[in-house]
Amino acid sequence: MTTSAQERDTAHPLDPYGWDEGWELALAQHHRDHPGPLVPARVVRTHRGALDVQTPLGPQRVGAPRALLPEPTTGDWVVLGLAGTDPELLAVLPRRTALSRAEVSGRSTEQVLAANVDTVVVVVAPARRAPLGRVERFLTLAWDSGARPLVVLTKTDLLSGRELTTALAEVESAALGAGVHAVSAERGAGIEELRGELSGTVVLLGPSGAGKSTLANALLGEDRLATAAVRAGDGKGRHTTVHRELLPLPGGLVLVDTPGLRAVGLRGGGAAESLQRTFADVEDLAVDCRFGDCTHTSEPGCAVLAAIGAGVVDRRRLDSYRKLEREQEFLAARTDARLRAERTQRWKAIHRQQRAHRPRP
Ligand code: ZN
Repeated sequence: MTTSAQERDTAHPLDPYGWDEGWELALAQHHRDHPGPLVPARVVRTHRGALDVQTPLGPQRVGAPRALLPEPTTGDWVVLGLAGTDPELLAVLPRRTALSRAEVSGRSTEQVLAANVDTVVVVVAPARRAPLGRVERFLTLAWDSGARPLVVLTKTDLLSGRELTTALAEVESAALGAGVHAVSAERGAGIEELRGELSGTVVLLGPSGAGKSTLANALLGEDRLATAAVRAGDGKGRHTTVHRELLPLPGGLVLVDTPGLRAVGLRGGGAAESLQRTFADVEDLAVDCRFGDCTHTSEPGCAVLAAIGAGVVDRRRLDSYRKLEREQEFLAARTDARLRAERTQRWKAIHRQQRAHRPRP
């Protein structure tokens, strides 16, 4: 039910940042709750206690109240109240998608790396041993976010025609249900075709050396750093240089590039379904296993092992599935343990309080 800027009567200054009719409706709810002037803004970078946002009037740095939920992240749409002297951050509009990873430390169990992402591009470079396990990991993360995944094989100028065919087939075997594209950012080959496949807010994921920055620059069509740095007011008349991690791209696209995306693990709870999606070929075969709880290790009548024996499915696929599954189970268990510990702590505190208030005999 979203409408592009061209279809609407008037253009909105935030159209290049992904503003659409759906967001307008979400904002309208807040006009009812908050008297006084409101504007929408998109988070282009987060800081401790502050956010850099793009407003209809330009870039701005605003304070982020600690109590605000969810904690705003790059890509979020927020509501700014303009009634006071400084713009006030009032709310975060409900997210359409959220790219999350398991939190390494801290109280929360997952960290949202980017919000409202429409396309996740998994970037992979040709290699003697292609990092297909990494591709499968990133794809699972992408399915989990709610965004549409796409795989891009970069640096194809390094390959002969026959090598390219082999490399593409290899990547495709790990990328079921996601389109695979070949590009050479250095030569500009395949970039326009890829651009045609992208929609909305785009995130590039991939191991280091995969060529993410070169691809980002090719999509921007100009020097990224030159456009990423802008001057922003902070509502107190001060100006500061802001390095945006969310940039409009030609063709109505928006590119998100945050350092957090450079090393990502899987999310705990909820990622199981996304794993099944990434390994749909194994899951389809497993339906025919004799035992419903078949682990595909040595059970008689295992359809997955039979398919591997017949060369229909690569042994590597099953191993990679198991590895990610174990990791996901570990994270889910750790999340449960942490929640249990937090619950116990809360109860202990309540009991201590009750004891302190109990009248002494
Ligand atoms: Zn089996």
